[in-house]
Amino acid sequence: MTSPTPWQRTARGAMLLDDAGRLSPTIFAEMSALAASTGAVNLGQGFPDEDPPEAVLTAARDALAGGLNQYPPGRGMPTLLEAVAEHQSRFYGIDLDPEREILVTAGATEALAATVLALVDAGDEVVTLEPFYDAYGAVIGLAGGRHRTVPLRGPDFRVDPLELRAAFSPRTRLVIVNDPHNPTGTLLDDETRRAVVALAHEFDAIIVTDEVYEHLVFDDVPHVPISTLPGAAERTLTISSGGKTFNATGWKIGWLSGPAELVSQVMSVKQFLTFVNGSVFQPAIAAGLRLPRDHFDRLAADLQHKRDLLAGGLSTAGFEVSPSQGSYFVVADAAPLGFDDAASFCRALPGIAGVVGVPVSAFCHPALADEYSSLVRFAFCKRVEVIDEATRRLAALRL
Ligand code: PMP
Ligand code: GLN
Repeated sequence: MTSPTPWQRTARGAMLLDDAGRLSPTIFAEMSALAASTGAVNLGQGFPDEDPPEAVLTAARDALAGGLNQYPPGRGMPTLLEAVAEHQSRFYGIDLDPEREILVTAGATEALAATVLALVDAGDEVVTLEPFYDAYGAVIGLAGGRHRTVPLRGPDFRVDPLELRAAFSPRTRLVIVNDPHNPTGTLLDDETRRAVVALAHEFDAIIVTDEVYEHLVFDDVPHVPISTLPGAAERTLTISSGGKTFNATGWKIGWLSGPAELVSQVMSVKQFLTFVNGSVFQPAIAAGLRLPRDHFDRLAADLQHKRDLLAGGLSTAGFEVSPSQGSYFVVADAAPLGFDDAASFCRALPGIAGVVGVPVSAFCHPALADEYSSLVRFAFCKRVEVIDEATRRLAALRL
């Protein structure tokens, strides 16, 4: 857990193998296993502990009972393709052709992997923010790409325009933007979004936006998909997933949308990764996407309340807490409690306080890992009583 991200240390093709040739678990799998083995409250891996909405569950049950058990179409089932198009139009005014401009995938993870594998050649550069979701580094490595990053500077994790520009070069093929951002919970500001589009034009790069937390945005701030910015749609692939929006992370139904030609290129890879995706879950996620706005508003409001509970509890326990504007996560600095190395702190935390968090350094290359070494990511997508229990336990840190 303290070591640099393993895909950096090892050769291409063996990216997730450690020095002894063993497969290393992701930070999320490792921390969930630690929570299970110690009985600690798991605020590490980001998954909700409540079920999908009843209408979504009913649609899945109906699909199962109705015999939808064989391969669905590779691009996705028409009902889901149409529901994604309706959703993008209803929430953002984006107009998509469901037959040409949308592709269903095995979660956002496959959408990301297929996109990078389809569009990045060996030696091409891919720009991401840093800290970055672990899969980005791994799939860029699988494609033989070179990973360039733009640091999000604390305490409020802003992008410096000069550092953003410095990450681009004539070899830049993709810029992957995660907004709202995991692990920091930050939203990009409009200036940064505009700068990403301008730089993509200048360097002829494709923009990939990971918007899996699009409906988990707080304090009445609207989510702004980059593809709605002037000049962006023609070069942007937008990725999302039903996992977070419908409490269904185990169903692995995601999608991507954008210009038909780019979507076709991604589909050409996707067909050899998973071929098709869960036939009974697609109509269920389609039903979710068609839920009244009230579902989406309540989801954000509930989660905002949980953010406030956890952030308050972490402050009371003595952490310095960064603001979280979206996602499942809040970042807390353990330095005021006397812990400078969050990786060791997270390993010890189940024993000291019965809680699991994830060190932010696990989302960083070694150079920046040092800068973020005392930061811990905690997930607040848990029932209120679970958050209350965690904050009660964390209060012991102060004693
Ligand atoms: N991107 C980000 C930023 C994530 O946090 C996650 C996982 N929670 C994913 C992609 C993967 O999403 P999915 O589970 O739909 O594959
Ligand atoms: N996205 C989730 C997180 O950041 C976990 C997903 C996973 O375990 N790969 O916690």
